[in-house]
Amino acid sequence: MLSSSVGKSSLMETTRRPDIVFVSGQGSWLTDSNGKKYLDFSQGWAVNCLGHSPEIVARAVADQARRLINPGPAFFNEPVINLADLLVSKSCFGKVFFANSGAEANEGAIKLARKWGSKHKSGAYEIVTFVNAFHGRTLATMSASGKAEWEKLFEPKVAGFPKAKLNDISSVEAEITDKTVAVMLEPIQGEAGVIPAEKEFLQDLRELASDKGILLIFDEIQTGIGRTGHLFAYEEWGIEPDIATLGKGLGGGFPISALCAREEYCCFEHGDQGGTYNGNPLAASASLAVLKRVTERGFLQDVRAKGEYLFQALEKIADRIGSVRGRGLLAAIVLKNPLAGDIVADCLKSGLIINAPKSNVIRLSPSLEVTRSEIDLMAEVLLGASKNINSSAMYMD
Ligand SMILES: *Cc1c(COP(=O)(O)O)cnc(C)c1O
Repeated sequence: MLSSSVGKSSLMETTRRPDIVFVSGQGSWLTDSNGKKYLDFSQGWAVNCLGHSPEIVARAVADQARRLINPGPAFFNEPVINLADLLVSKSCFGKVFFANSGAEANEGAIKLARKWGSKHKSGAYEIVTFVNAFHGRTLATMSASGKAEWEKLFEPKVAGFPKAKLNDISSVEAEITDKTVAVMLEPIQGEAGVIPAEKEFLQDLRELASDKGILLIFDEIQTGIGRTGHLFAYEEWGIEPDIATLGKGLGGGFPISALCAREEYCCFEHGDQGGTYNGNPLAASASLAVLKRVTERGFLQDVRAKGEYLFQALEKIADRIGSVRGRGLLAAIVLKNPLAGDIVADCLKSGLIINAPKSNVIRLSPSLEVTRSEIDLMAEVLLGASKNINSSAMYMD
């Protein structure tokens, strides 16, 4: 059925993909059209927080699909009401708006902050964001991002996103003017190579935002829903943002994202925000199934314990090739040499999926249900690949 050269399909070419077609997945494992199995430590870039095709999500979606797929966003439906209640009860936020992708949730956060600025801060609209930040691929979220490679793309950008440096509070202070309405950041910069914000920096940022009367926005699209061993990463630092966005793990692979805000900042008026698929019961039922599992007693404790086990395994490998950073089950090895792409390709050949957000950074974001023996197996393959690549790199020199 499939042509032998899948790379020449009718799909628009937007990235380089290997000649592999995946046909099924279960937990930490994917199977391609030749029957080859792969251990997946990327999980769609931290999306499948319960692994591939978890039974509870599959059942929730199938049941909901038979009952009601989409009454339209102008009406209430039961799953979306329950999901909003659940997120509010587990967080510091008062209300939630649902969307379909991370970028769309971040667009919502930007719009909400600008709306609040127009109503309560004399039209202030600038949002301080960060060098190397990643907030998505719409025009506004690309403008809010700080990827050097994007600087010249799709000009002109959306204005109003001055850039500060992560973990440098004076660089934030320097960008704040009477036009500033918010500061927006990832508590751990994901695409930049898993770079955590420091506790003291985040506490200073919280204080600064409160003093200046501006909003603190956390993009928790990659860090949220248990990824770092807490339901939300902000819990770890003992501070609370005013607005946060969720995506990726929220639907366990099903497309859904959320814009969460403290009640006093929920200032959208009718018609300001919406979307055809936003808050549909099918996506909400997938997310309810995910959250039911992730909030089970002991689940996040187990994620933290497995995170420690993962970091121990990585430290042993990294001794030879670089250093390890991250939190919970979001981990990176920072290599001494820019060989991440080669290591990722060698692992893929051996049936291990990991990814390289930077030429010198390998990122791992396995299922939160990953087992210790799967971590052992990953470490074995990764060690082999790092030996292969390092020795051939030395040979080439
Ligand atoms: C993935 C990601 C996004 C974008 O999410 P999409 O669903 O791809 O639009 C935004 N912010 C962060 C931190 C992300 O990791």
